[in-house]
Amino acid sequence: MRKIGIFGGTFDPIHFGHLRPALEILDALSLDEIHFVPAGQPPHRGVPAAPATLRLEMLQAAVAGEARFRVDEREITRHAPSYTVDTLAGLRGEFPHDALALIVGMDAFLGFPGWHRWQKIFDLAHVIVAHRPGWVLQSAGVLADTLSQRLAYSISEMAKSVAGRILLQPVTQLEISSTQVRACVATGGDPRYLVPEAVRALILNSHCYMQHTEH
Ligand code: ATP
Repeated sequence: MRKIGIFGGTFDPIHFGHLRPALEILDALSLDEIHFVPAGQPPHRGVPAAPATLRLEMLQAAVAGEARFRVDEREITRHAPSYTVDTLAGLRGEFPHDALALIVGMDAFLGFPGWHRWQKIFDLAHVIVAHRPGWVLQSAGVLADTLSQRLAYSISEMAKSVAGRILLQPVTQLEISSTQVRACVATGGDPRYLVPEAVRALILNSHCYMQHTEH
């Protein structure tokens, strides 16, 4: 049984706060690979600032040096709202016998109860929650209940099944967000060292965040 991580996001743009935790999770949990799945039109937020093709290009450039990082274009080419549960159902069909693990930051996990058919996610995949600066779990509520039923204390415990457990994974805390990168560029700043050099070059050459105002 292989162990495949799935890391969804808007990646507008991809930054080191995505890449370093992903690498640490890959190594700590001995995943075979991580599939980065950029959202086409994310259902929970406004239209991304950079077009999907450019977000995809930045992602491909960012992961080019790590063979275990893959880019999965399915949500970009779907031309419909990108529901994670549908993406996972597609991947489950392709990898029926492998462990699938959806990787999310703590902020995203806290938003789970608002996601389309979110309980179904656990039938399709495990969920690995990466700690993220500024976000903590509540001790009560539907998410706390779900966690108490599904919490795994180790990867070996998790790997006994192909889906259904939740693992809380400490990672290096990098307080970087795509919002911060966009704001930096929009105000004439240089996103150097927040993103890989190849991503920085694509941002500066395309001027994609120059005129952007957050809404
Ligand atoms: P934005 O600022 O535009 O909302 P973002 O930086 O949160 O973007 P997303 O593409 O929305 O990036 O996030 C994709 C996934 O990566 C989410 O699960 C999110 O929780 C996680 N993530 C993003 N940044 C970090 C970080 N610095 N540390 C841990 N997880 C992160």
